[in-house]
Amino acid sequence: MSHAFPHRHLLGIEGLSSHDIRFLLDEAEQWIAFNRGVRKQDHRLDGLTQINAFFENSTRTLFSFEIAGKRLGAQVANFHAATSSVKKGESLIDTALTLNAMRPDVLVIRHEANGAAADVATVMECPVINAGDGRGEHPTQALLDALTIRRRKGRVEGLKVAICGDIRHSRVAGSNMRSLPALGAEVRVVGPEALLPASLPEHIRAFTDLDEGIAGVDVVMMLRIQRERMDAALSEGLGDYHGRYGLTRARLALAAPDAIVMHPGPMNRGVEIDSNVADDPERSTIREQVELGVAVRMACLDVLTRNRRGG
Ligand code: ASP
Repeated sequence: MSHAFPHRHLLGIEGLSSHDIRFLLDEAEQWIAFNRGVRKQDHRLDGLTQINAFFENSTRTLFSFEIAGKRLGAQVANFHAATSSVKKGESLIDTALTLNAMRPDVLVIRHEANGAAADVATVMECPVINAGDGRGEHPTQALLDALTIRRRKGRVEGLKVAICGDIRHSRVAGSNMRSLPALGAEVRVVGPEALLPASLPEHIRAFTDLDEGIAGVDVVMMLRIQRERMDAALSEGLGDYHGRYGLTRARLALAAPDAIVMHPGPMNRGVEIDSNVADDPERSTIREQVELGVAVRMACLDVLTRNRRGG
């Protein structure tokens, strides 16, 4: 375990100190310029095996981890749950033991069950990175979000951030509600009562009115409705969601004049966000989030495998 980052796995933001979070963000900075170059091949993970085990769909995260590993020189193998023995009823832990027997040097896992990455980490001999566990956490998303804010605004500390939409079912919200306050931001959540968590940390205020919730904020983070994690009645009962919670240009005018708009993707245009907001390069950071995601994941893969590499 590297002294600078005293954790074997990255299972969530929970358990990380603000120093740990800043350390990973600082490590990620070096990869941004590297990734903008023409030749993007580093060799620090040469000969190491990275398994990406994705039990849930992913576009950005899986691809981003694959590119990140390859740019560092790792042999990257993607384990597709849809075509594996998981479909035949093999338990998650049995699958993990099987993967472990193949001697990976790092495992990246996404799974629909809360706590899946932590469970798997108990039997793996290599570092485990949580790429999203149910409604739990998505730590690399929160890190890339923090890095995006830090680069656009020059700091995170003292900023007002409104996380808007389906907070209750969102692991992105779960991780950001931990990382952003740890970095000194004032976080508030905004959404319909039914999509707000039953309880919130004391320092996070909840709003059910979007106009009120985003008034004067520096960062508006929009989230998708996680229909796959809610029952049909709740999903159907959301009514005119765009009318009440969709981010339009007129609504964005209520935030600070230089407020940025974030979205982890996938976005539903015309539902939680309008195209003229999402595609505004002055205000929207959506593409930058994807770009910085690769740098953040390179930093996490590098830092967590340092011990195995004797570094
Ligand atoms: N891509 C993010 C996640 O995996 C957000 C989302 O799916 O809405 O949690």
